[in-house]
Amino acid sequence: MEIEIMRKRSIMIQNKIIQTPEFIPSLTTIKNFSNYPLALNFLKNQNFSHFMISAYDLHYLNYKEEIQTKSDFLFFLDSGAFEIYNQNNSLNWKNEQLLNCIGKFRPDVVVSLDDINFNVGNRYEDYENYNLLRKRYENTGIFYEFVLQGRNFEEIRLQLDKFELDKKIFAFCYPERYLGNNFKTRKENLTKILKIIKEEYGFSEILFHLMGCSYPKFLKQYSQMGVDLFDGVHWNDSIYDKSKNMLLDFSELLSINCNCSYCTQYKVLMKNNLIKAEIQYELFAFGHNLLMYKELMEEVRIDDG
Ligand SMILES: [Zn+2]
Repeated sequence: MEIEIMRKRSIMIQNKIIQTPEFIPSLTTIKNFSNYPLALNFLKNQNFSHFMISAYDLHYLNYKEEIQTKSDFLFFLDSGAFEIYNQNNSLNWKNEQLLNCIGKFRPDVVVSLDDINFNVGNRYEDYENYNLLRKRYENTGIFYEFVLQGRNFEEIRLQLDKFELDKKIFAFCYPERYLGNNFKTRKENLTKILKIIKEEYGFSEILFHLMGCSYPKFLKQYSQMGVDLFDGVHWNDSIYDKSKNMLLDFSELLSINCNCSYCTQYKVLMKNNLIKAEIQYELFAFGHNLLMYKELMEEVRIDDG
């Protein structure tokens, strides 16, 4: 049996619509953003209707008020695994803090739901996470993504053995970094994992989210293999050269000779007022990148029929 790979879906969740395959811009203090309200205003201006923020960052930045996004954005809350993974001297991070963050910020989708502890790396999510989340937020309308944490196929099967189908499950997700250190290996492992989920276990209707993946060239190919959702930070740390389908250094906006509205405006500003243009560089670079990602995903959806 062949895995069904070409599909485009339009999903209504919390009265908001997301079309898949789709890219979710992620924000994290590890990269450029520490001022989330400002960043969200920026995304809104670029007509992005969804984003992902880390619970770890929200907790430690100590925002006093709810980030007022619910009416405008589909809000994905990441569990904080990326920050733990990236920071050597990571701050304390426990289930209870994640749960409090969910309660305070009321995301639409929580990207943290695994029910087995494999005790690998800096694991902080534990066996009880899944049930705690479900119990406490049962009636809130919050959806979840089930994170497959296994580093090999047998561990993934062990997790799926315990998985219970739940109408609040929005997607399975798996970090791209677990798939291997080169694209060829990652593709082979991804094919196998999708086969396990969809054929062995029969969960063919649940979306698949490849976490921490925003390299444009790979995004297109992964999507053809069956990935529905991506998230990543490259839109705010690199320049996306769409004509070559590759990422360049963040300083190279002018070198790509792009004629999108942001690049055109930026060139005019550069010509007329160099100092002001330099100060505003990031805004044009982010604008260009988001526009290019938007176009890329539209193309991917057309290719996927
Ligand atoms: Zn441009």
